[in-house]
Amino acid sequence: MNFKSLPQLLDYFKEEQTAIEYYEKIRWGGNPTCPHCGKEKPYKTNRGWRCSDSSCDKKFTVKVGTIFQSSKIPFRTWFAAIWLATNHKKGISSVQLSIDLGITQKTAWFVLHRIREMLKEKAPAMLGENNMVEADETYIGGRETNKHFRHRRSRENKLLRNDGKPYKEKKIVLGLIERSGKVVLRHVPNATKENMVSFIEQHVPEGARLNTDEFKGYSGLGKWYNHETINHSLSVYVDGEVHTNTIENFWSVLKRGLYGIYHQVSDKHLERYLDEFAARFNERASTPREKFNKFLRESESYLSYDELTA
Ligand SMILES: [Zn+2]
Repeated sequence: MNFKSLPQLLDYFKEEQTAIEYYEKIRWGGNPTCPHCGKEKPYKTNRGWRCSDSSCDKKFTVKVGTIFQSSKIPFRTWFAAIWLATNHKKGISSVQLSIDLGITQKTAWFVLHRIREMLKEKAPAMLGENNMVEADETYIGGRETNKHFRHRRSRENKLLRNDGKPYKEKKIVLGLIERSGKVVLRHVPNATKENMVSFIEQHVPEGARLNTDEFKGYSGLGKWYNHETINHSLSVYVDGEVHTNTIENFWSVLKRGLYGIYHQVSDKHLERYLDEFAARFNERASTPREKFNKFLRESESYLSYDELTA
């Protein structure tokens, strides 16, 4: 069972039972555990498991407490969705996924959001222990000049667009990337020095080498870091080892994905899309099958439709 492509994955998981057993092995490692009370060694039933603790006594399947909970679509379809969402460099839209897998767009939208929940980094990485870290910020929301006139900000009332609808400010995303390593992202309300510094402090140990541009939000970092800046305003982009090209390249993949595939991302869901792009980038050196298994192991998080649409 060494599937290397989507057709091989679909062949392998032709029977729902095969997929259930595969996922039980991934989730429990041969040691099934009651998701309600944590008791091991449950009884096998016709449709799943039953807790062996008499005070709990609950029935469950391997889906309880995971992203697959209360979903009616078969594992095979879920697995195909995970394969597509984690191997397309810029992601896949719910419209495209619904066509590819023969499910409704509403279901595809929900499946993709649960996959993003699974992709969320559970223990955020520390960067810069071995290599240079680049910090940068970017603005999501498109250039004003590329927008249709009616969508641009009104000159008379800054809160509105020309067509009278509310004007949405661009969203700011902070990013840290370790050269040949991982990326960490955060959506912040303002590009203030306070936001920049607290984000960097959380993910980069004191004394690490840090490259940024000369944006004033980064000034003063030299107190804690080996901080070097590149002066973009003078059109200098590389000065020896000092540059922010790695994070700039990441921004360009992120933006091509967000604008080209997802078109519009609400404030509420932006963080989830960031989780998705970061996870794909951070696992870029793994084979599709390694990625698939790694992400499946992290599927123990549950996100209900009500929570998503609240
Ligand atoms: Zn139990």
